[in-house]
Amino acid sequence: MKGSEFYDAALETMPAEARERYVNENLRDIVQYAHDHAPAVKEKMDRANVKPSQIGTVKDLEKIPITRKDDFSELQKLNPPFGGFLGVPETKDVFVSPGPIYEPEIPECQFDAAAKALYAAGFRKGDTVIVTVSFHLVPAGAHFAGGLDKLGITMIPTGVGNTELQLQVMHDLKVTGYAGTPSFLMTLIKRAEELGYNFRQDFELKHALLGAEMLPESLRRSFEQDYGINAQQIYTTAELLLLGYECSQKSGWHIPEEVLIEIVDHETGRQLAPGEVGQIVVTPFNKIFPLIRYGTGDLSSIIAEPCSCGRTSPRLTGLLGRVGEEVKARGMFIHPRQVKEVMAKFDQVSQFQVKVGRQKQRDTITVNLELKDETLDKQKLTDELAQAFQDICRVKADKIEFVAKGTIPEEHKVIVDERTWE
Ligand SMILES: [Zn+2]
Repeated sequence: MKGSEFYDAALETMPAEARERYVNENLRDIVQYAHDHAPAVKEKMDRANVKPSQIGTVKDLEKIPITRKDDFSELQKLNPPFGGFLGVPETKDVFVSPGPIYEPEIPECQFDAAAKALYAAGFRKGDTVIVTVSFHLVPAGAHFAGGLDKLGITMIPTGVGNTELQLQVMHDLKVTGYAGTPSFLMTLIKRAEELGYNFRQDFELKHALLGAEMLPESLRRSFEQDYGINAQQIYTTAELLLLGYECSQKSGWHIPEEVLIEIVDHETGRQLAPGEVGQIVVTPFNKIFPLIRYGTGDLSSIIAEPCSCGRTSPRLTGLLGRVGEEVKARGMFIHPRQVKEVMAKFDQVSQFQVKVGRQKQRDTITVNLELKDETLDKQKLTDELAQAFQDICRVKADKIEFVAKGTIPEEHKVIVDERTWE
């Protein structure tokens, strides 16, 4: 990985002592900055009676309260649009992520982080890449675009959907790289096969940077062995952007130098040791949106040993679940609150439960319903409910099933995740 001329690759291989110094210096700097420029950060530090001068090392961060992702949309409603977390006088962009949560422009350092992830996955100048994530509302497309730009790589902003057009573009322009979800990459491959192509021979695709969904090892193997595509994962969130990326060793996600991550016990709020599972809490070195101690709700643990690739950053072991009750399906979080909001529109429904499963490498969403009155027009209810579900949850339910009274237990989870990941 001996570095790239496009970003400061020396940061990735800092010896342990230099890394510790680097992290603590950046931490002191961002905490002081956020305290002075983002009123919400000052407010939460005042509330906990902490001064910036008391934050010298990562351990000291425990003194500052965590801002939970679940509360963030409420904080933004009370103090629109950014909840008091904007660290600059103005922003040139506003992004809108599900929630809705508003985010300001992407900081330059996050384009470096995206470039690191792409470089680590084998993307180089000379490649031609389709970016199949959304270029509107959310920051995903712009984030990838900035990373590719740093590396001098040709980008085609194909966005979401349009499977056949994407295939034509891939074929005509000899596309070598893919950025997007694992499931859509498989959709493209399968459609190409249905159209009579031999994917390996007729396409030039060599590397894929995959995110927003789990990548089961069986699916990775299929991309690599059946189709000759090197597949590497990233971990991103809309508010914080890149938080982890795989190197060629594919054994954990390197944490980019642009953010600081703690793994925190959900109950006590204390930092956990490497290997222990807890919530991913992030402090990005981002002066535009300095979210000091942002609780993602995602669970993971840290691998502290240096990686054989040469990067010395700690690694995350992957996503091990969620702190709350939300379930991520097809790249979107579904919150029990959203499902309840849908059902509140339908008096006829007495009990409901959403089941998330997995079929042919794709997440499936089934809504089970018990009715007060079995004789009503079920087709009409199905159509209306499907529409309301899509409007509110921003993802389509595959099936709406009517079950007999008493099938859904009295005490039940609103959303059940029945997926297994082999
Ligand atoms: Zn590595």
